[in-house]
Amino acid sequence: MPVAVNNPVKLRVAIIGAGLGGLIFALLMQKHAPDTVEVDIYESAHELAEIGAGVAMWPRIWEIVRYLGLEDELLEISGAGRLGALPMVFTKSDEPTAVDVTTLPPGLYPFHRANLQKLFARHLRAYDRIQYAKRLTSYTEPASDRDPMVLKFKDGTQATCDVLVGCDGIKSAVRRTMYTDLANEVEARGELEEAARLRALNDPFWSGTVAYRGLVPTSELEEDVLKVARIPHIVMGKHKNVVFYPISGGEIINVVAFVDTQGARGTRYEGPWVTTATTEEVEQQFSGWDTITHTLIKSMVTPTLWSVHTVGHLPTYVKGRAILLGDAAHAMTPHQGSGAGQAIEDGLVLASLLAHDSVTLETLPQALNIYDTIRRPFSQNVQRGSDEAGSMYHLHELGWDKVSVGESAAGSYSKDMIDVLGKGLEEKLDWVMRGDFMETRVKAMGMLESTSA
Ligand SMILES: Cc1cc2nc3c(=O)[nH]c(=O)nc-3n(C[C@H](O)[C@H](O)[C@H](O)COP(=O)(O)OP(=O)(O)OC[C@H]3O[C@@H](n4cnc5c(N)ncnc54)[C@H](O)[C@@H]3O)c2cc1C
Repeated sequence: MPVAVNNPVKLRVAIIGAGLGGLIFALLMQKHAPDTVEVDIYESAHELAEIGAGVAMWPRIWEIVRYLGLEDELLEISGAGRLGALPMVFTKSDEPTAVDVTTLPPGLYPFHRANLQKLFARHLRAYDRIQYAKRLTSYTEPASDRDPMVLKFKDGTQATCDVLVGCDGIKSAVRRTMYTDLANEVEARGELEEAARLRALNDPFWSGTVAYRGLVPTSELEEDVLKVARIPHIVMGKHKNVVFYPISGGEIINVVAFVDTQGARGTRYEGPWVTTATTEEVEQQFSGWDTITHTLIKSMVTPTLWSVHTVGHLPTYVKGRAILLGDAAHAMTPHQGSGAGQAIEDGLVLASLLAHDSVTLETLPQALNIYDTIRRPFSQNVQRGSDEAGSMYHLHELGWDKVSVGESAAGSYSKDMIDVLGKGLEEKLDWVMRGDFMETRVKAMGMLESTSA
């Protein structure tokens, strides 16, 4: 629908998905263009339904939530409470006594996902405009640049927008439509191999890793375990690692136990992506690990088993007026704790561009091209880095590949290798501690101004 002459609204944006990525993008849109960009959010669930698990933010992401003015409220619900950021301790724990590897300085802000999602949604002026039970099935691009895009939902209804932002997660329907269209276009030119490659990018692939996730109420833990569990840890061992940190004001410990199957990356995962697990099953996987890890695993309430899938590196995040953001664009392994953070960084760049005075329906292609140019290489590098970090946690790198499961458990390795691992981890995770979001924003604005000059 063309915008009326006196209406200050220059663009109507539809966000598909009210996960952490979609909500933060909407908040950033609200901050940058409160009057000139209208936002509608379509969510397939019947209500906000983030899972009962933890999610953490590093300093570079914390800078963005501070910029949104949410710092005080977030500290109220963080795992550390008003203490603010927590350090991250790395140990090698696949032996009876954990071995210290390294510690990153205080920088981690851990949360319960559902608390975070509700808090973000509460700040949305357009909260009442989240339309629930709206599962996008596909969209169509208009033949003319001035006509709206048409969104089709599973319930048979339709909606329109000027710009479509797919924040609909790893199984994104926006990505499916975009990549099916791209594949059809190259197929029509006779490029059959390229068409098959593009079509294959619709489907996430298995990383070869599964994650057992569970929460432990701190009331269940003895003081000696609690003292350790209140400090975020990544405990590592051959082919496996466990992450734990406090959430919900320190009342709960979030525990995630990863098991990697070597050579399974890219193979088909047999079974449901998420299912229930038994405590015995998880305990068995980590038998022989140090006492604290073992106690936490034993105390997980109703653990669930998740297969960790990722999205292949896409050749574009943009087609026409449709854009991919967050897991829809770059679902990654969780080993740098950065998937949600990357969605937030996408949101910052995209919101800054769309809000700029020079961006209208006519100039939109330049703005979206800048989003793709800035965000795609960066986020894909983070995807790669997350796999590499996982490989380090599972003792596959830095000479550790030559140490067998038995040798690792028996402590039969050169002690210098612990230092090498520690230094490697510090280098790998250095980027998460540094916040350069204003620099990225300025770069995006500069690119926009030079194209519109
Ligand atoms: C074990 C584990 C631990 C992790 N830990 C961290 C961490 O500590 N820090 C971090 O930054 N990241 C972490 N991540 C990654 C992080 O969870 C994701 O990257 C992030 O949640 C992605 O957000 P999103 O909004 O892009 O997608 P999602 O959270 O998947 O949200 C997608 C939304 O879209 C909706 N939707 C889906 N399809 C449709 C449709 N067709 N129509 C309408 N709505 C739809 C869904 O219901 C959902 O609400 C972790 C991941 C895992 C698996």
